[in-house]
Amino acid sequence: MANSDYYATLGVRRDASQDEIKKAYRRLARELHPDVNPDPTTQERFKEITQAYEVLSDPNKRQMYDLGADPFQGASAGAGGFGAGFPFSDIMDAFFGTGGGSRGPRSRARRGRNATIRVELDLKESAFGTTRELHVDTAVLCEVCSGAGTAPGTHPDTCDMCNGRGEIQQVTRSFLGQVMTSRPCPQCSGFGSIIRHPCQECAGDGRVRTRRTIKVRIPAGVEDGTHIQLAGEGEIGPGGGPPGDLFLEIVERPHEIFERRGDDLHCTVQIPMTAAALGTSLTIETLDGPEEVDVRPGTQSGQVITMYGRGVQRLSESGRGDLLIHVNVETPMRLEPAQEELLRELAKLRGEERPPGKFAPGQQGFFSRLRDAFNGR
Ligand SMILES: [Zn+2]
Ligand SMILES: [Zn+2]
Repeated sequence: MANSDYYATLGVRRDASQDEIKKAYRRLARELHPDVNPDPTTQERFKEITQAYEVLSDPNKRQMYDLGADPFQGASAGAGGFGAGFPFSDIMDAFFGTGGGSRGPRSRARRGRNATIRVELDLKESAFGTTRELHVDTAVLCEVCSGAGTAPGTHPDTCDMCNGRGEIQQVTRSFLGQVMTSRPCPQCSGFGSIIRHPCQECAGDGRVRTRRTIKVRIPAGVEDGTHIQLAGEGEIGPGGGPPGDLFLEIVERPHEIFERRGDDLHCTVQIPMTAAALGTSLTIETLDGPEEVDVRPGTQSGQVITMYGRGVQRLSESGRGDLLIHVNVETPMRLEPAQEELLRELAKLRGEERPPGKFAPGQQGFFSRLRDAFNGR
């Protein structure tokens, strides 16, 4: 046993976390515990996994073992091969998830589960907020039994197997000596009482399934992926337990013109070369309606016109983001002879018939535009 591979024994990788080791041990121990399976081969296997767990669950021993030493070697081989200081309570802890001690009967009332529903919004709704009626499939308190789960006029009977304690203690003799174990009572599932006459309406669950309509106010400024928590709007718990929470997950439908980045909106407009050179004004359909925007004479392709405060309402503070209009200057593609003549005339006037072609200054260059794109500008 000294040379066995403890990782293989527990079926975990060498870099397994403490949690994974504990889980692996618990799973195996449930199968192989001598109380469950008394045959000698299984007991031998149980000893092996327990020894492996004792070493791998202790960071110091695990480190020693990883370095090639076996902490069990040289330890007292007497009591079933376990060394002194066997962490018995740890092992029991791993089994039962508690440090032992009496827990008493558990309550039938438990908290209801949380639920999440997706709410699709268009850009205008998420920018300004909206009110929605939502239909939720959920569980509500059974009105017949008020959550108790018992038929009217009846009460749960005290469980005669555990006398209402909800757990059963057992003393077993195993290779570890006498072991006192306690486990939930199988007859009452740990409740300590038995409902012999369940409520007909809810079959004893204390709640009934239904479809509920709730009206929710969605604040301005939410965005795709925002979760809104509606405390206590989830399903009611079994046995009349408190309700869980309802979460709304916002899904924002893409807008056909505006792209949202945080609280700012971006769009691109194409203007003809002549308009860019001479200046013009555009009518932009903003979220607030149509608005006039001046394009100054000499506007370059790629230039951005900012409409302050025409973006999305900020969720956690006051004010709104901006609307950024990216200007794209279109070069005419097909010129009629008269147009071509005029353009040639213009080129001549401007001395641009054979322009040398200049490198753009640094700030306008490709890489800085790439950088701006990264920075979300
Ligand atoms: Zn009921
Ligand atoms: Zn019982």
